[in-house]
Amino acid sequence: MNVFDYILDKLEHFGNIYDVIRIVDPVRKKVLDIEGNQSFEADIPCYSLWKKRQLCENCISIRAFNENDTIYRLEHKDDRIYMITAIPVDVDGKRVVVEILKEVTSNLVLGSGEGIPGLKIFSMVEEMNRIAITDSLTGLYNRRYINQRLPIDLLNASQREEPLSIILADLDFFKDVNDTYGHVAGDEVLKEIAGVLKENIRKKRDWVARYGGEEFLICLTNTDLESAKKTAERIRYNIEKKHFFIEGNEFNLTSSLGVYMICGATDDMTFDQVIELVDKQLYKAKKSGRNIVK
Ligand code: GH3
Ligand code: MG
Ligand code: MG
Repeated sequence: MNVFDYILDKLEHFGNIYDVIRIVDPVRKKVLDIEGNQSFEADIPCYSLWKKRQLCENCISIRAFNENDTIYRLEHKDDRIYMITAIPVDVDGKRVVVEILKEVTSNLVLGSGEGIPGLKIFSMVEEMNRIAITDSLTGLYNRRYINQRLPIDLLNASQREEPLSIILADLDFFKDVNDTYGHVAGDEVLKEIAGVLKENIRKKRDWVARYGGEEFLICLTNTDLESAKKTAERIRYNIEKKHFFIEGNEFNLTSSLGVYMICGATDDMTFDQVIELVDKQLYKAKKSGRNIVK
């Protein structure tokens, strides 16, 4: 009996807690094995189950994989709601994720236990899933999204033999904005900066996330270093020329940006290595006097 059969066999004793069990490789988006309701197919990318053509924005299996912990999530497909439990399991030195899916449309008890009309539940589920990957201040993607999405983009770039470029941007002397105009004003500035970043990337192919305080990470798919530097320069320029108006005060800001390109098939880099390298570029930009792309 192979190890996947063994796992599925053990879970069979708990028939009531699932409709489907799948074993997935969340980085490669592959279903390795499946048990239960036959309308769920194996040999398809894992996200196809949700009638999606591309990976789920808030993939809990990649999170279970990264954090080595069990993660739960509600999702809906047509007019049914599913509870998904994603459990990381190490098999022969390789980590996979066991996904347990149970339809809970009529068993879900929320709050007082009274039923909530279907539509309301669907929009609640969508909202919860959106919040999990969104930075509440700027509305950009958050750090969790970076952790989930970047490893997948790295793998795709390597498989497709395409370049992938990353920009890390940090505002210059931002502490002075807080010290001079207050933290609330600082927050307003961050929101406006988020707008500049969104306006300067390709809507469908690229994404931007708040990496931390006033640091932002931009991922440019199928983009070489030269084009990525042009995008970074455009962002730097647009931030520099922007005028901020806070409580009758007008001021300007600058930013420093580091750019790093991962070269498709030739670089098999990990998430941590990429972050370290782009951070080094940002450090160089700061060292050379700020308001510059490196
Ligand atoms: P530089 O990067 O040019 O070296 O100088 P800096 O003053 O920007 O220094 P650093 O990047 O280390 O500091 C970031 C400052 O950003 C510290 C903190 O006061 C501020 N900050 C971080 N997160 C937030 C936030 O959510 N809101 C506001 N208002 N300020 C924040
Ligand atoms: Mg800064
Ligand atoms: Mg900083």
